[in-house]
Amino acid sequence: MTTEAAAELIEQQPERWLKALERAHKENVEIVQINVTGAWVANSGTKPGMGYQLELRNGTLTCSCAASNWDGLCKHKARWMERHGLLASV
Ligand SMILES: [Zn+2]
Repeated sequence: MTTEAAAELIEQQPERWLKALERAHKENVEIVQINVTGAWVANSGTKPGMGYQLELRNGTLTCSCAASNWDGLCKHKARWMERHGLLASV
């Protein structure tokens, strides 16, 4: 995801993204990058042992969790954006 694309996404619903980031911190959602594929993986905040894959495809960040499939907004993406300096908790 480009910085511009992420900023645009966050601008559309800034409060929801910040809430998602807050939940991510509360639920200890962490993201890691797989060394051989470059893919990003986030742990579930609610289902122990479950992980979700984050992918950058054509400038769009996707996440394999149900929330992201539903409306494109999730804790894992929020955490990814924070990690990349695109979103900051207040
Ligand atoms: Zn997600």
